[in-house]
Amino acid sequence: MPGYELLGSEELDSIKSIFEKKAVLFAHGFDEIRSNYHVREFEDKIKHKFDIKHALCVSSGTAALKIALKALGVSHGDYVITQGFNFIATVEAIHDLGAIPMIVGVDASLNMSAVQLEKAINSKTKAIVAVHMLGVSADIVNIVKIARKYNIPVIEDACEAIGGRYDNKFLGTVADVGVFSFDFGKNITTGEGGAILTNNFQLYDYCRMYHDHGHMNTPGLPRGQDDIAMPGFNYRMTEISGAIGKVQLSRLDFINSQHKIKYDLLSNRLQKKYTLRMIPEGSTPSYDTFIFRVESDAERARIIDILNKLNIGTKNLPDAIRWHCAYYWSHIVDPKNMPNIDQVYDELCMHIAVPIRIGLDTAVYETAIEAILN
Ligand SMILES: *Cc1c(COP(=O)(O)O)cnc(C)c1O
Repeated sequence: MPGYELLGSEELDSIKSIFEKKAVLFAHGFDEIRSNYHVREFEDKIKHKFDIKHALCVSSGTAALKIALKALGVSHGDYVITQGFNFIATVEAIHDLGAIPMIVGVDASLNMSAVQLEKAINSKTKAIVAVHMLGVSADIVNIVKIARKYNIPVIEDACEAIGGRYDNKFLGTVADVGVFSFDFGKNITTGEGGAILTNNFQLYDYCRMYHDHGHMNTPGLPRGQDDIAMPGFNYRMTEISGAIGKVQLSRLDFINSQHKIKYDLLSNRLQKKYTLRMIPEGSTPSYDTFIFRVESDAERARIIDILNKLNIGTKNLPDAIRWHCAYYWSHIVDPKNMPNIDQVYDELCMHIAVPIRIGLDTAVYETAIEAILN
């Protein structure tokens, strides 16, 4: 996830442009003294790039998830289904609304199992959050199909898969609503930040007002005299983040195409000896993490040692598994609502996640491959 590897003079110039007239760091108003509207422009670029009708920038990916869930009507006592391999933020967003997270198992893509999803749906299920973990699509078309059968909305958490696709659609635009994160570890970054993507105007409009104290932002009315639509909160993005985001988004295709070169190298060479993480047919990853399966703890330890010695290191598997496997989250998930979590945990423990970095020479990955295959 190397957006930060490429932060440079273009991002700096974009920030400087905020200061052309009087610097306005707020996305709204101050029309007479400002020279540009970076957050609004970033949203327009997101709409254009991802071919979606509405995009709203917010303060983080976690906020984006919470706002999207709230816009779908999720509240106290509702059940929301998500997956065992995840990031804790997704479950926190559900928990923070007073809703109850239900955790289902994963398939060979390590994302939500459509089979287990269908088994977990009941009359209290209010929403489903499918997560495209570490660059790879969930079985999203089948997940949406099942959800439609029961009339339950689906959020795609595409925080870790920006630029990935399913058929001709970008991840985050296949289901009812998608969320991105631009935190410092993500594929493109604004330091902190997130976005909500949807083709549903009502949903977008709810999110827009809720994330800004219920402001209607009625055109022509000064902000201080604006109408209040509903109770809201402050989850706004700053102009500095917007200014950086515009530039980072313009780098996305380059970032993912650079990832792909190293990803393909690892994939072509290691598939002879190892089982690779399943990529759902018809999907294209964002290629920033390469994941494969080993058959023993000793083999896993040997490979991790090789990766560490070469300064490639490993990612969430195993480094940050506490933050990515619901097995550890009994403080926010009732263990009876994650019946298959032991299997998910055991399966994750057989995998290794190799970070793909633009700044690391291809030769280093080649050396690692040689050592691993030896
Ligand atoms: C990063 C991430 C989030 C949260 O994003 P923040 O911007 O850090 O709040 C949510 N879900 C997943 C899968 C993530 O990787």
